[in-house]
Amino acid sequence: MRNFAAVTAGVTAALAAGGFVAAQPAPKLAASDASFVAFEQPVLALTHVVLFDGTGAPAQRDMTIVVSGGRIAAVGPAATTAPPSGATVVDGEGKTVLPGFVLMHEHLFYPNSKGGYGDYPEAFTRLYLAAGETTIRTAGSLNPYADLAVARAIRAGRQVGPDMDVSGPYIEGEPKSVARMPAVTGPASVAKLVDYWTGEGATSWKVYEHISRADLRATVAAAHAHGLKVTGHICSVTYQEAIDAGIDNLEHSFQEASDFVAGKKPDACPPWPVRLQSLIALDPDGPEASKLIKSLVDHKVALTSTYAIDETLMAGKPPVSAETLAPLSPALRAAYSAAWAQNQKGGLGKLVAAFMPKMARMEHRFVAAGGLLMAGSDPTGFGGVVPGTSAQHQFHMMIEEGFSAPEAIRVMSRNGAVFLHRDKEIGTVAAGKRADLVLLDGDLAKTNDAIDHVSTVFKSGVGYNSRAIAAAYAGKVGLD
Ligand SMILES: [Zn+2]
Repeated sequence: MRNFAAVTAGVTAALAAGGFVAAQPAPKLAASDASFVAFEQPVLALTHVVLFDGTGAPAQRDMTIVVSGGRIAAVGPAATTAPPSGATVVDGEGKTVLPGFVLMHEHLFYPNSKGGYGDYPEAFTRLYLAAGETTIRTAGSLNPYADLAVARAIRAGRQVGPDMDVSGPYIEGEPKSVARMPAVTGPASVAKLVDYWTGEGATSWKVYEHISRADLRATVAAAHAHGLKVTGHICSVTYQEAIDAGIDNLEHSFQEASDFVAGKKPDACPPWPVRLQSLIALDPDGPEASKLIKSLVDHKVALTSTYAIDETLMAGKPPVSAETLAPLSPALRAAYSAAWAQNQKGGLGKLVAAFMPKMARMEHRFVAAGGLLMAGSDPTGFGGVVPGTSAQHQFHMMIEEGFSAPEAIRVMSRNGAVFLHRDKEIGTVAAGKRADLVLLDGDLAKTNDAIDHVSTVFKSGVGYNSRAIAAAYAGKVGLD
């Protein structure tokens, strides 16, 4: 840790001596982060690219995007969109441009090999950016002071990373699912918690599995009073009860719903395998599923798809690649491999695999009915969901579950921006918007694997070398 006391003492002495306050210098990236910057030219043109603009429209070929002063100045066919004189021109022949991803279920912690969690806010924010995530929401925090401090450093330009919508601590009831979460003890304790952490800078809230109906209502009331939204990974409260309580978003798509468990007791959480069995028995086109889908859409409750973690939980999937695991320490890689082998034998992995096609069917119906489907990584479970490349896994899984590439990109960019009310600024590639862009080596309209070849990620027009960031963190997560 660098010692800032000497710097502060110097400033104090200068003020005492002359009373003259010099203009604050612009914050600077640390040298290690500055080395990741590939482009910071004020005017830049990406020419002849394949463009997925994030609206869900088909890919457009031979396009030029002009970036000026951190914003998208022009987007159009290369034939009619000339780079301005003096622009740095990047020949994008054979390359693809996407909007920066806006992912909604990110965490800055990771399951360690001892059944707990390690905190990696500095590494994970950089790895998320390297994979194309230019805005993230942390969906539940185990260490909100650290998350808020990193978000501030990024906002101030002192650290490389995505813009962050930082959630407060998970709001959980008893018995807690995770020992490190605070458990609330009634509406008054909920209000106290929400008010305190909102004052500290939290801008989002997440309730967890054992929240009661009364405490969920209290959370929604307290958060909405601050103009903030609430999401939940719920269980003791059914989806319909959460909708009735005014929740804004539900995590893990349809797979946590306890609505269809026979004999479910109020405020009690049936184990996940029991819920999954009830969901597998549900007809995704039948009246009960239709009623829930309509209720979600009518009440504007968004769903967050977390296929990257589902992939690791499904029996029958091969282990994730060595490339995906690259940021992890050898101990974390070994822990993942052992857990993967175990999961192939157990019953849970088979239940998750059996529900996936049914869940995808319900998601397609939800989207067709006008529902807002978003995406997130959720790097938890038994490992293997590695911050950053989890975004690429999300894309591949959405394709596998029947979404088109333009639809998957829209879910991963524009839809999160809509939920955050930032869609006028970010989420799609259009003139006037912030220049948050992902440049892929390869043609995503021809091959889905191009998503894995992120070359440069632009945030506010500054381009970061994705591979340099990944290389800097290879093997490091889990060692500090
Ligand atoms: Zn999570």
